[in-house]
This record gives sequence, C-alpha cells and structure tokens, in this order.
Amino acid sequence: SQATRILVVSNRLPINFSLGDPTKGEPEFVLKPSSGGLVTGLRGCSLPFTWIGWLGFGTGSLPKDAQDRLRAVVQRDYSFIPVFFPDEIASDYYNVYSNQLLWPVFHYQKQNIFAANPKAWAAYQAANKAFAAVVGEQYRPGDLVWVHDYQLCLLPGYLREEHPTMTIGFFLHIPFPSSEVFRTVPQRREILDSLLDANLVGFHAFEFARHFCSSCQRLIMDAETTQNGILSRGRLTTVMTDPIGIDATKFLKLLEQDETKDHISQLLAEFDKKKIIVGVDRVDYTKGLVLKLLAIEQLLKSHPEMREKFVFLQVGVPSRQDVEEYQDLVREVNGLVGRINAEFGALHWMPIRYINRSVDQPYLAALYAVADACLVSSTRDGMNLVALEYVACQEGRYGALVLSEFAGAASSLPGSFIHNPWNIGETAEVLYNALIASEEERRLKHRRNFEIVTRTGTADRWANLFIEELGKAYAASSAIL
Ligand code: UDP
Repeated sequence: SQATRILVVSNRLPINFSLGDPTKGEPEFVLKPSSGGLVTGLRGCSLPFTWIGWLGFGTGSLPKDAQDRLRAVVQRDYSFIPVFFPDEIASDYYNVYSNQLLWPVFHYQKQNIFAANPKAWAAYQAANKAFAAVVGEQYRPGDLVWVHDYQLCLLPGYLREEHPTMTIGFFLHIPFPSSEVFRTVPQRREILDSLLDANLVGFHAFEFARHFCSSCQRLIMDAETTQNGILSRGRLTTVMTDPIGIDATKFLKLLEQDETKDHISQLLAEFDKKKIIVGVDRVDYTKGLVLKLLAIEQLLKSHPEMREKFVFLQVGVPSRQDVEEYQDLVREVNGLVGRINAEFGALHWMPIRYINRSVDQPYLAALYAVADACLVSSTRDGMNLVALEYVACQEGRYGALVLSEFAGAASSLPGSFIHNPWNIGETAEVLYNALIASEEERRLKHRRNFEIVTRTGTADRWANLFIEELGKAYAASSAIL
C-alpha cells in the first residue's frame, strides 16, 4: 500500500498559464509558478501533497488532445493535477457566482441579485462536480483531502456522496458573515449541507467560526452546536480557528538581497527626511481604498503641519477586471488620488504616489522596510497578509501597523494601531498618533507583532496544525457514527 498523502484542492493551481508560440521557439504551454501563503505553508508539512486545481481562463476551450498534453506537462514539471471545464462554465462559476455573489455577501457588501441567477448556480455546481471527479480519480483510501475556499463550497458534499469514509477538511480564507447576512444567500442550505459533510471546517478568526455555527444552528433543522463543532445527521463536523501566517524567513532573506537594498537606498534618497506611509492592496472594494484615501485627505486637513512632512505610497494591484464593480472602483480610486494630489500637492511634493500595477518581491520588501507606517483599511478581510509581511520587514525601524479592526489580522496582531476605517476622522487621528509615537512605544508594539509573525503564527505552523486537527476530527466524527 502507498503512503498517505494530502490532496490539496483549490480553485487555482499556483501556476500561471499562457499559450506559447512554437514558431518563435517557445514551448506549446508557458507555465510560471506563482507563490502565496498556501504554497509556503504546505512546504512545511511533513506529508507529501498533490495539488489539484484550475489553470484559469483559456484552458477550457483547448482541444482535448491539447488538454491532455497540458495535463502531462503540469504533472511532470510540478506534480500538480489540473481540472478542466468549459470557459463558459468558468465565467459563471468564477466571475459570477463566486465573485459577484459569494464574495460580496461574505464581505458584508450589497448582494447582487442578478448574480443569483439559475445559470450561475448551475455553473457553480458543474465546476464543483468537475473538481470532485478529478479528486475522485486521484484519491486513494487513507489520503487526506483538504479543500480551500469559497469557490469550492459544494465540493465536500460531492466528495462525501461518493466516498463515505474519505477524510475531508475545508478551509475558508474569507470571512464567514453573520447568520443575518449569510441567510440572504439563495443556496444557503446546499452550501451548509455540503460544508457539514467535511470532517473539519477551519477559519482565520474566531468570529467567523462562531458565525458559521450560528448559521448552521438557524438554517439546518437538526444541527446542534457542541464544544468542538456541529452535530447533524448523527455526525460531528469539527470547527476550528486557525489563523494563517506567512513565511517570514522569506522576507528576512529578501531584505538581505542587493536588489532590495538598492531599492531601499533609492526610496530613502528620494523621500529624504519625510515619513513614509505604505499601503498595498488588490484594487478590491473590500480593501477600503476609498476610505483610506479620504483618511489621508483628512490628515492633511486636520494636521496642516504634516503637509510636505510625509508621503503616502500606495500599490494598487489590478484585480478581477472582468467584473463591472471592479472597473468602477479603478476609476473612483484614480479620480480620488488625482483630486487629493491636486488640492494639496505642490511642484516639489505630492502627498500620494499611486502605483496601479503589481510590484516584484524585492521592491515590495523595500517598500515595507522603508515605511514608518503601513495603513490597512479593509472593511472586511479574511486575514490580510500584507499586515503580516509589513511586520516581518520592520526589525530596523519598528514601524507602526495601522490596522483595520475588520481585518482578520486584527485578532492575531495585538501590537497594532487599530482603527475603524468607516470613521475617517478616527483613522486620520490614529495614523497621526502612529506617526508621532515615540520610538519606545513603536518598539514595544512591534516586538509583540514580530514574535507572532516569525514564531507562533507562521505559514507552516498553520498548515501543520490544520492537518493534525484533521486527523483528530476524522477520528471524532467516526467515533459518533
Ligand atoms: N502582492 C503581490 N503583488 C504585489 C503586491 C502584493 O503578489 O504587487 C501580495 C502580497 O505580498 C500578499 C498578497 O499579495 O501576499 C495579498 O494578500 P492579502 O491577504 O493581503 O490580500 P488578498 O489579495 O489575498 O485579498
């Protein structure tokens, strides 16, 4: 018999795919690895893992023989297993049902009733079934299956139907909303029934776990909340809080690289003697970019002495450009940056430098390292890794993390300057206090956060804890049967 493995299932594989041009000597498929918290965390797990996921738009319309070749290359070069479904299904599953219905509702944004259309729901089901089929082909009894995130809420249910004894874990990387909000989702029952088919369901913050339990309690007839999770249909689903971490060592190493050091010297030379505030977000309405910019404007108004004394460097990573709300947000943010700079800027100084593209890792580490403060204004956020990354890069400066109370990270990082991003005056004041705080205060706060980010709250600890708990949860659910 073969050794136990972890089958990791997520919407996307951590590879970017494009078609090459063989006439230019390129391979048929160009694959580039993309990194993230999940990749890092799993590297720290002692069990071998096999990753199953989608390669993105364009792969569904490839002819069958091209898909077979692509599957073989991905398997050979990465040991990952791609899932294929038609691009039309992908668009309704990913853009519409996942990102225009589940994403906004789970982040307490207005519900887009058009996204709840039957076609989008059917596509969401079809895509989740396509994942289930591939997991089924890969699965060997004894393997642990670890499903990730809101795009795959139906997968535990489909897997359980076929495999009554499979060990299934599910982790949600975004908030789970209050039951008052969750119950507006038209397919709320189907989603909860499926999640309860997992042996273990994990969240980044205790409130998310609590909201999940009360949603089950209210919406599932026989559900009963126990100390460890939810009892329903005679089975126990363990519920846990397991905040994700980062690979802090990677950032500490980046800071040692010459390329990063060059960026640091350049940035410090350019913003000579000014305080630097940094912001790094995908351009997503949950990140509170508009509120953040209004808070910067408020700081300029209520503390005129700060004018020309600081600069706000904001990276806005383009995101989900196929979705209309995101296109509107891009225009709104660009307009606001222009207006504030026009009102407060001078020839030799602009309060805001806005970069509307992604930056590479050395540049990102340099931005984190030179900043006296990092401003995170998410109105809702599962965790917010930017907050953790900033802390990892601040051993020299003891910079202030000015963190929204609505980010999951606020529950993990007690050494932060916490603010309510909806209260623009408060955010401006907290930011001001962070900028003028004594080195002693900043050092003490930074120490508390740095300990957590580099020791107790790392990515590999997160993954190991989940896998360890999954084994126990499986034993506990079958003990009841
Ligand atoms: N990031 C990136 N490219 C950039 C800027 C940031 O890949 O140009 C990374 C950043 O280092 C962080 C992630 O994007 O790891 C953002 O994660 P977070 O949890 O803050 O927010 P999410 O985008 O997942 O909602």
